[in-house]
Amino acid sequence: MDIAVIGSNMVDLISYIDRMPKEGETLEAPDFEIGCGGKGANQAVAAAKMGSDVMMVTKVGDDLFADNTILNLEKYGIDTEFAVNVPGTSSGVAPIFVDPESKNRILIIKGANKHLKPEDVDQASEKLKQCSSIVLQLEVPLETVYRSIEFGNEHKIPVILNPAPATKDLDFDYVCKSDYFIPNESELEILTDMPVETEDQIAEAARSLVHKGVKNVIVTMGSRGVMWVTKESIQTVPSHTVNAVDTTGAGDAFIGCFAHFLVKDGNVLEAMKMASAFAALSVTMRGTQTSYPQASELENFLS
Ligand code: ATP
Repeated sequence: MDIAVIGSNMVDLISYIDRMPKEGETLEAPDFEIGCGGKGANQAVAAAKMGSDVMMVTKVGDDLFADNTILNLEKYGIDTEFAVNVPGTSSGVAPIFVDPESKNRILIIKGANKHLKPEDVDQASEKLKQCSSIVLQLEVPLETVYRSIEFGNEHKIPVILNPAPATKDLDFDYVCKSDYFIPNESELEILTDMPVETEDQIAEAARSLVHKGVKNVIVTMGSRGVMWVTKESIQTVPSHTVNAVDTTGAGDAFIGCFAHFLVKDGNVLEAMKMASAFAALSVTMRGTQTSYPQASELENFLS
């Protein structure tokens, strides 16, 4: 097993609307789509599409979305032995309303994701020990994230921590125990209380984390690229210029692909470059997991 993603899955329920209904009003909407998402699942799918052997430790509900979520992960070859049902609970869902100007209104109901507990990490320990990297986000309880980081440290497995969605409750002692800390600009702003308008400000904010003891801070900056800050250096990989049609899930694309290349040869800068290309390709297509390219498409893009 190359990569273990311990984290969330969600089902996106996307309604394409002319306008939001008023209170008490029932309104017909022109279109509807169901999509598989959740930061954990997106990152797992991105790594699997690149060819990594991926397992997920995750929780689904006991509703009609549960089987679909597991089947979707399996479709990409992801090991779902530890994708477990929670009786009497809904799966994680995200009702999304998209207006004609492509503006989103999104609700998140975490459902079964709230039930992913530290014990679930322990239960999967035999399989987790075989992994070369652990990938984490914050859509599941923080105690579970902390246990996963400890597990990685105990077994010398590199931990990639994506602090999304950002919360000030995140314990910095654990952040320092992760090996690669990957926020986007707004998460960096929330976590440091520092401005992140310019690249100099982003570097300053990331450096403040390094001063606190974080080993590698990698900030994704949308179309501006990615910045890697350590005690020794600051290096930036610019973005590819593409026709962006939908940037949803670009951060997850970056992280899944970064994990894949990091496990492959351990070269951080090279992994950043490949992940940057992978994420750039993903924004040229609508959707989240379905917009992630195959390894062959990434190769063609870079040749
Ligand atoms: P999301 O929350 O939508 O998943 P994010 O805010 O976490 O995304 P971003 O920093 O926007 O993540 O994007 C991640 C990476 O994707 C960027 O570092 C960059 O490499 C690539 N990317 C994003 N937007 C663009 C774009 N418009 N053009 C080229 N590459 C992009």
